[in-house]
Amino acid sequence: MSTAAAGAVLVLNAGSSSLKYQLLHPDTQEVLADGIAERIGDEGSSITHEQDGEEITESLPLPDHHAAIERAMRFFADHGTDLRTAGLRAVGHRVVHGGRTFYRPTLISVEVIAEISRISTLAPLHNPANLIGIEAARSLLPDVPSVAVFDTAFFHSLPDAAATYAIDRGVASLHAIRRYGFHGTSHEYVSEQVAAFLDRPVGDLNQIVLHLGNGASASAIAGGRPIDTSMGMTPLEGLVMGTRSGDLDPGIVMHLNRVAKLGVDQIDTLLNKQSGLRGLCGEYDFRAITEKIAAGDDGARKAYDVYIHRLRRYIGAYMIELGRVDAITFTAGVGENAAGVRADALADLQNYGIIIDDERNALRGKHARRISADESTIEVLVVPTNEELAIARQSAEVVAEL
Ligand code: AMP
Repeated sequence: MSTAAAGAVLVLNAGSSSLKYQLLHPDTQEVLADGIAERIGDEGSSITHEQDGEEITESLPLPDHHAAIERAMRFFADHGTDLRTAGLRAVGHRVVHGGRTFYRPTLISVEVIAEISRISTLAPLHNPANLIGIEAARSLLPDVPSVAVFDTAFFHSLPDAAATYAIDRGVASLHAIRRYGFHGTSHEYVSEQVAAFLDRPVGDLNQIVLHLGNGASASAIAGGRPIDTSMGMTPLEGLVMGTRSGDLDPGIVMHLNRVAKLGVDQIDTLLNKQSGLRGLCGEYDFRAITEKIAAGDDGARKAYDVYIHRLRRYIGAYMIELGRVDAITFTAGVGENAAGVRADALADLQNYGIIIDDERNALRGKHARRISADESTIEVLVVPTNEELAIARQSAEVVAEL
């Protein structure tokens, strides 16, 4: 039996064919292990587990999430950690859509599972996978409390004007159509880290947070509360993403149906998986796009221009909505690593008090840092997100109240 894991939280992020996990201490932030199972239920499935400085990748059939968690548990056992008896504080699950019901981290019960399942119509690509992860963890670790942390929760209090689509009110109400927002765990965590970095209360700050990963979203946060965000009823709205289109004229959907004769599932796949940067230039990984641009690839350059154009449009809108902006922060894979994106997103805005310091922007690092010049009136920061830590902390808080 291991004591190192006593009090730790196992964070699970179950996607439709993947399962990411991390075992960490919410108080000390110490990460004991992490891993990812990929291509679950498909040919060529594999799992990578990292613990005690050792990383193992194994190719094996993983018919379902249950099998993936079981394999992970054996990896843990090989390192002397029996998850069933280690004294884990909680299993924290990332759940994408909380609908109107869930806006706090929630202890999982049979009733909660039923409600998450009912909400699944709002997030058919995500919630069912999250639920499979929840069921698998509950059956394999029945004595550890499970907590759901919702991606939509932070945006629960969006003002009505920002949350409402201009469609028939009756239809919207009947079908729960409103703007929910996603990546909330990240936006909340990063906005708090910004306040800590600036040594100011989060309640005093007006912020724009740009979460630029494979999925991407922007938020405007006034005094710690979001007043707008770019993702909507689903994570498809807003910025140009790796494989998602972001904002579109809804008339395009009708056109694709009537004229291109695509069915709803084909349109869903087109807009969620074959659009965004991938649709524009065939690549969705920003590193590959940057290399292609450097090699003179015109398609990659045009895709990049569309990406930056959309990003600047949101930044501009949020500056007006907030009125006064104290900090603009970049986070997630692209935001933390792609200095060129940061520079282009905020280029030529000195009239608005935004001046990037090129040397600071070029420095790489894993810590929160300032990339604006001293004379910039708006602070521009890079702050690494850590959704696992945020989920672990929120899960621990729920369990502490039991
Ligand atoms: P995330 O979804 O936050 O894991 O971000 C994933 C994306 O970050 C990848 O698709 C890459 O395009 C991007 N990314 C990661 N590292 C770098 C890097 N060093 N430079 C540019 N983009 C990067």
